[in-house]
Amino acid sequence: MSLPQQTDVLIIGAGAAGLMCAANAAARGRKVVVVDHANKVGKKILMSGGGRCNFTNMEILPKNYLSANEHFCKSALARYTQWDFIGLVLKHGVAYHEKKLGQLFCDNKAQDILDLLLNECDQAGAKIYANCEINTIAALDQEKLALRYKVATSMGDVFCESLVIATGGLSIPTMGATGFGYQVAEQFGLVLKPRTAGLVPFTLSPTQLEQFKDCVGNAAEVRVSCGEQSFTENLLFTHRGLSGPAILQISSYWSPGQFVRIDLLPNINLNDYLITQQQNRPKVLLTTLMSELLTKSIAQAFCNSVAEIRPINQYTPKEIQAIADIFHAWEIIPAGTEGYRTAEVTLGGVDVDCLSSKTLEAKTQPGLFFIGEVIDVTGHLGGFNFQWAWASGYAAAQFV
Ligand SMILES: Cc1cc2nc3c(=O)[nH]c(=O)nc-3n(C[C@H](O)[C@H](O)[C@H](O)COP(=O)(O)OP(=O)(O)OC[C@H]3O[C@@H](n4cnc5c(N)ncnc54)[C@H](O)[C@@H]3O)c2cc1C
Repeated sequence: MSLPQQTDVLIIGAGAAGLMCAANAAARGRKVVVVDHANKVGKKILMSGGGRCNFTNMEILPKNYLSANEHFCKSALARYTQWDFIGLVLKHGVAYHEKKLGQLFCDNKAQDILDLLLNECDQAGAKIYANCEINTIAALDQEKLALRYKVATSMGDVFCESLVIATGGLSIPTMGATGFGYQVAEQFGLVLKPRTAGLVPFTLSPTQLEQFKDCVGNAAEVRVSCGEQSFTENLLFTHRGLSGPAILQISSYWSPGQFVRIDLLPNINLNDYLITQQQNRPKVLLTTLMSELLTKSIAQAFCNSVAEIRPINQYTPKEIQAIADIFHAWEIIPAGTEGYRTAEVTLGGVDVDCLSSKTLEAKTQPGLFFIGEVIDVTGHLGGFNFQWAWASGYAAAQFV
C-alpha cells in the first residue's frame, strides 16, 4: 500500500491526540493523512484505565498539569473542555460512568473510545495508515512552496503543507512508544525539557522490601506528600515496592534521593484516638488496636518500629505521641521507579516556550505542530492526560 503523494496535513502518530486532530482538521475540509508505525492504531487507548479508558475528568483545572510553564495548557484546555468530549461520547452512544474523583470511564471497554475516534475520522474523510515507518523529514523552501514538508516513509514520500507530530512519550515501549517526536523537535532546533517516567510505581531497596514483605498485596488510604505536593488516595504494597494511585500521582513530583512522607491514617488523629482507647479499652494491645485501623500486616509492620508492644494503658503520653508519629509521618526514600516499562506517562518533552499555546505550532518552524504527550505538559492520574490529548489535538486542528 502506498500513501497519497501529497496532502494538506500529515499527522505522525495515530494515538489519542493524532486521531482527534485528524478528525477535526478533516471536518474543516482539510485533506488529512495519519500514519503510525504500529500494526494497530490507538494501542494506548485500548490499554488505558484498566481496559475501560478513563477518558476525561469532571473537573479539569490547569493545576492538574505539570509543565515548565504552568500557563501553557490553559488556552487549549479552555477551547476544548471535558464537556466537549463528553458531548462526543454521548453523540456516539458510548455508555460511561463516574468512578471516583470525577474520573469518567467507559461502562464496556476502551475500544468504544477508539471506535468513536475512528468513526469521526472516517466521516470527515481523514485517511489512516498503520505499519508505516517514517524515514526522514525535510523542510522545503518555505518562501516558494505551499507544500512545506517532504516526509519519506516505508509507504512512499508524502509532501504536506502542515506536519503534526503526535507520537506521544516514551512509556510502554512494547506498545510502540518511541522518542521519535523528540528527534523531530531536535532536528528543527526546538528545545527539549528532560524526560522522566511519570505516574509510575516506586521500587524499594532489598532492606525496605524485607521490612514490608508481609504487606505485599495490602492497601491503605493514605496521604502521600513530596515537597509541596500531596495526594490522598490508595497505596498498595507490591513485590517491587509501592504502587496504587497515591504513589503514581506523587511519583510525577519525585526526584531520585528525595524522601516521600506518608500519613497512613490521614482521616484520624491517632494520638487523640489512642488516648481515648487508654480510657475505653485499657487492656487491649497496641497491635490489636492498630489492626482495626489498617490491615493486620500493615499494622504489624509499623508496630515493629515501636520499642515494645504493650496493652494501650501502659504507654506514657510521650510514647503515644511517638507511636502516632510512626503512622502519621512515615518517611521513606524510594530506591527508584519502575521506569518507562510501566509508567503511564513521560514527564518533560518539547519545551512549551517553543510552541504557540493557541495553535501548537512551532514558533520558529511554520507548519510544524506538536500535540499530546510529546509536549512538556503532563496530567495527573484521572483522565487528565487524555483530556490534554483531545484539547491539544483539537486546538492544532483549527490551524493546520
Ligand atoms: C497503561 C496506561 C494506561 C493509561 N491510562 C490512562 C487513562 O485511563 N486516562 C488518561 O487520561 N491517560 C491514561 N494514560 C496516558 C495516555 O494513554 C496518554 O497520555 C495518551 O495516550 C497520550 O496521547 P498521544 O496521542 O500523545 O500519544 P499516544 O496515544 O501514545 O499515541 C502515539 C502514537 O504514535 C505512534 N508512534 C510512536 N512513535 C512513532 C514513530 N516513530 N513513527 C510512527 N508512529 C509512531 C504510536 O504507535 C502511537 O500510536 C495511560 C497510559 C498508559 C501507558
